[in-house]
Amino acid sequence: MNIHEYQGKEILRKYGVEVPNGKVAFTVEEAVEAAKQLGSDVCVVKAQIHAGGRGKAGGVKVAKNLDEVRTYATEILGKTLVTHQTGPEGKEVKRLLIEEGCDIKKEYYVGLVLDRATSRVTLMASEEGGTEIEEVAEKTPEKIFKEEIDPVLGLMPYQARRIAFNINIPHNLINQAVKFMIGLYNAYIEKDCSIAEINPLVVTGDGKVMALDAKLNFDSNALYRQKDILEYRDLEEEDPKEIEASKYDLSYVSLDGNIGCMVNGAGLAMSTMDIINHYGGEPANFLDVGGGATAEKVTEAFKIILSDPNVKGIFVNIFGGIMKCDVIATGVVEAAKQLSLEVPLVVRLEGTNVDLGKQILRESGLNIVPAESMADGAQKIVTLVK
Ligand code: ADP
Ligand code: MG
Repeated sequence: MNIHEYQGKEILRKYGVEVPNGKVAFTVEEAVEAAKQLGSDVCVVKAQIHAGGRGKAGGVKVAKNLDEVRTYATEILGKTLVTHQTGPEGKEVKRLLIEEGCDIKKEYYVGLVLDRATSRVTLMASEEGGTEIEEVAEKTPEKIFKEEIDPVLGLMPYQARRIAFNINIPHNLINQAVKFMIGLYNAYIEKDCSIAEINPLVVTGDGKVMALDAKLNFDSNALYRQKDILEYRDLEEEDPKEIEASKYDLSYVSLDGNIGCMVNGAGLAMSTMDIINHYGGEPANFLDVGGGATAEKVTEAFKIILSDPNVKGIFVNIFGGIMKCDVIATGVVEAAKQLSLEVPLVVRLEGTNVDLGKQILRESGLNIVPAESMADGAQKIVTLVK
């Protein structure tokens, strides 16, 4: 799960990570009022969307007085920002962060991620802050430094110090930087983050080490024990189809293709997407209805797939183990009747109660194309959507 920058900063502040004073604003009036209360000579008006690259897209503006705050807030609120992380459709700005302007001496990058190769949380840092870290990794990989963190010991002060020296933090500020990184690490661990990225971390004219940006992502599987994080969820930033799916406990991810997929089991879902690709098609989604799905759940899953206007055909690929084929067939028929199915539907069923499942589909009177195998089904749906 993703949260906004201002929310991330709220969390970091509690862990002793220095951040500029700031306030969230939902309207232009609130933005001006927030700037008044901050009482800072220079304010920064920052678009709050769940995506980075806002600066380059015109979503971060420095205002030298209240009139400028009003001008920029009016300009940015309601605007659709297109950044390298939003996709071409962009994201509409509905909240602003009004923040104290900061006298930046130098920008750095500091991030924590889980490195799956080493199974360790890894602290990554660079003195090339402000730019995208992917670009630094590509062009000047020698400028990125890493520390693997032992899960029992946690981030050791000597590791944080080594990073601070490597990225050339001024010597008199090394201790502040160490405190910053340890605070960031504690937040990462205690809040079950999957990413904590500060780009830029800055050293200021008056000798402070601060987070000017904050991107915190959280492990969705841990949200049951992070109730306060769940409060930060902004449903308007999420795909409505994914929200609907989560209500029914379905694993659903929207993709760019035109073949809707309904599959049980994450492994089978992945290989179904692969085989569609193999035959020249593009999946419109990843959908795992899970092991013990009911007919109702299958119906809901089907509705979600059909609500995507890009879907030009559907491929149902089920291996009935715990899940019974007749339950799937009943759900598919029910949904197709409720929604007047207008796109081709290919169904491949195998496993428990397969004959009963096939019979239900046959007798439904719906125009369903049966498939004998995964490959057969994939080829059929790819051909049908072309
Ligand atoms: P994004 O990464 O989405 O572009 P950032 O929060 O990193 O957004 O802001 C982009 C740039 O704007 C920063 O690299 C920094 O130079 C400048 N900036 C951001 N916040 C402030 C601030 N409070 N004071 C001064 N400059 C800022
Ligand atoms: Mg940034």
